[in-house]
Amino acid sequence: MNAVPDALEAAAAPAGTAGAARAAAAFAALGDAVAALDAGRRRVAWASPGWLRLLPALGEGTPLVDLEHALPGLAAALRAQPAATPAAAAAAQRLVLGDAQEWQAELSAPVEGGLRLLRLADRREQGRALQRQLDAREQLLFTSRVLSVGEMATTLAHEINQPIGACANLLRGLRSRLARRASGRLQEAEAQALDRAIDQAMFAARIVARIREFTHSHQPRRARLDLNRLLRASAALLDWDLQRSNARLELALPDGEAPVCGDEVMLQQVVVNLMRNALDALRTDPPPQPRLALRLLRHHGELELQVSDNGCGLDDEAQARLFVPFASTKPSGMGIGLSICRSFIELHQGRLWFSRNPERGTTFHVGLPRAAQADAPSR
Ligand code: ADP
Repeated sequence: MNAVPDALEAAAAPAGTAGAARAAAAFAALGDAVAALDAGRRRVAWASPGWLRLLPALGEGTPLVDLEHALPGLAAALRAQPAATPAAAAAAQRLVLGDAQEWQAELSAPVEGGLRLLRLADRREQGRALQRQLDAREQLLFTSRVLSVGEMATTLAHEINQPIGACANLLRGLRSRLARRASGRLQEAEAQALDRAIDQAMFAARIVARIREFTHSHQPRRARLDLNRLLRASAALLDWDLQRSNARLELALPDGEAPVCGDEVMLQQVVVNLMRNALDALRTDPPPQPRLALRLLRHHGELELQVSDNGCGLDDEAQARLFVPFASTKPSGMGIGLSICRSFIELHQGRLWFSRNPERGTTFHVGLPRAAQADAPSR
């Protein structure tokens, strides 16, 4: 069925509209949203199926005044004087119509019979299509990051699991042998040092176990936990490194619970990684008073954790390569810490970013969704 040319020709029959009809038929075949406006009779002479999908109530026979009302900007364009040169007068006018500028339009010069063709495109749909494209791209990048980190992690976990286990066993054996030799009385400082070393080895073993579990399932655990407590525990794990760097630890944590829902080991690994990077930055270019600050801010629906230092800071080149895997400015750095941190945080629907401190050094920020009241408590 081809109702297009008939309707159009009938609308402008006295002047003969073969050209307009052919053009309109072509638009209809392409699926475009096109209407032929009859300026003389002040009504819509014809509307393509694509037009009727966008504006079902404004089809053939609609008075132009109603159309102008629905498409602010159209009335002025129809009233505009023809352009001065013949070429410009024959060209279609490009318009943006609508209260929220939601329509992109092209208005032809009068064709045979005084009809003018108006073609519409929904700019919101273009915006949505662009957004869908960006989302798909981000999802792809996210997936490839998770997968490459997953592969790397499986290899690393496999390689370092053995030495970590051996190290923890040797330390435990050493502790009990020393205790026996000193007839049960090990010096307190030595006992503490050994306990600390065992704690560190066990922490590493837990990380490896979680990495293996995670690369197997690709899902972090989800349990309700208190970020305040997690930050204090992370700081305790690094107390020896802080002392060695002569760095003062500043803790600015809010009172009460700071609940998030997530994987305790993964999140602790992120905090420890960021703190280690901060300590490295303090050692690279030590300020007169080295400082590492851990802050926790409550926002609406989100908790923001900050790890801030007054160390060497980031120059433009380091900043550009910050999240590039295997890019490191440290002689023995692997350059994967931040990539892993970002993947772990994204798996928690969070975000990781950084800022340069105005005076000196860098701040890394981690935003995590606050846990709802109903989330299950941590085991
Ligand atoms: P690595 O520590 O193995 O180099 P990361 O991914 O942890 O890998 O960090 C990549 C690079 O980012 C580091 O080599 C360093 O140049 C830079 N960086 C990270 N954190 C900081 C910081 N707090 N201050 C200055 N530079 C930093």
